[in-house]
Amino acid sequence: MTSNRLQSFLQDNIADLKERGLYNEIDPLEGANGPTVEIDGKQMINLSSNNYLGLATDDRLKKAAKEAVDSHGAGAGAVRTINGTLDLHLELEKKLAEFKGTEAVISYQSGFNANIAAIPAVMDKHDAILSDALNHASIIDGCRQSKAKIIAFNHSDMDDLREKAREAVESGAYNKIMVVTDGVFSMDGDIAKLPEIVGIAEEFDLITYVDDAHGSGVLGKGAGTVKHFGLQDKVDFQMGTLSKAIGVIGGYVAGKSELIDWLKVRSRPFLFSTAVSPADAAASTKAVEILMTSSDLNEKLWANSDYLKSGLKQLGFDTGSSETPITPCIIGDEKATQAFSKRLNEEGIYAKAIVFPTVPQGKGRVRNMPTAAHTQAMLDEALTAYEKIGKELEII
Ligand SMILES: *Cc1c(COP(=O)(O)O)cnc(C)c1O
Repeated sequence: MTSNRLQSFLQDNIADLKERGLYNEIDPLEGANGPTVEIDGKQMINLSSNNYLGLATDDRLKKAAKEAVDSHGAGAGAVRTINGTLDLHLELEKKLAEFKGTEAVISYQSGFNANIAAIPAVMDKHDAILSDALNHASIIDGCRQSKAKIIAFNHSDMDDLREKAREAVESGAYNKIMVVTDGVFSMDGDIAKLPEIVGIAEEFDLITYVDDAHGSGVLGKGAGTVKHFGLQDKVDFQMGTLSKAIGVIGGYVAGKSELIDWLKVRSRPFLFSTAVSPADAAASTKAVEILMTSSDLNEKLWANSDYLKSGLKQLGFDTGSSETPITPCIIGDEKATQAFSKRLNEEGIYAKAIVFPTVPQGKGRVRNMPTAAHTQAMLDEALTAYEKIGKELEII
């Protein structure tokens, strides 16, 4: 029997979200998450994935995954610290360290897990964390779990960061102070001001933590935002995911050997949760190998994203402040944003409406993610639909 209080809590809150246009309906894909997808029996151009390089469906990754199932089985069998560390996990970590240009890497089950693992492993209630106001939910959760004092600074506002760093240091109240930021902000596509952040960190002896979920595979010829700015030796934690540009599943932290050794004995999701499967580890390793040997996919991604972004701008849409392939088309009102996205779907373009609470209220947008796997014909079809619907709904 369900508790009456639970039932009324759920009914009231779901009805409230629906009323305000904030209730997200999930559309399952019938098949792979490629440049086109099938939903409800209908083939659509897919502008909603984080599969930047098209690697999620790459034949080389599929082959590596199948071979790993044959040689190592379907699952890792135990947590890493008992006997679930397979040679495939170590190969992945070694390859990632080469890719990132750091001494060592620890891998986790997801990017989300990496953040809730690594931050509380080094920060505690005697510490403070300076956190960009638009940081990802997993960073926020990692900060909360650490019990450190969380001090938010205005998004990419370096004067505010310096001021708050100074106050925190001068208060004498904290043992350690960390600054944490997304490398690329996932909803607007803008890049963190890492050279300035690193400068402030040096001035005030801050620990630096960059979540590069949307930068890896994209910036720095694929190696990420830190490499993009040439700051590999100046950032303590380079966190990344294997589920976006890498196309598989998992997360990691790259850094100095001493840091990685500590995370292996102190981060709870590493100690108490089983690692990714053999197929996942092998496919991710293959993806990193591909990125290290050729920049073809990265170049194709940027060419496609420039094409789509300039096309939308020419039509008169507001694509915000993106500096990366993330291409928001800002509509504003939540219901109008959802209506726009629904019309795109009807025209065979799958691009999701992103509304509060993922972005601030009144900042609803259709978020477009061009990938290396799209053809120009697909992008042209998307632009044609945007023009038609933009005029129909009187947005352009
Ligand atoms: C997606 C994302 C994550 C989580 O990565 P997963 O591997 O999907 O768990 C963490 N941080 C940022 C900034 C992200 O965009």
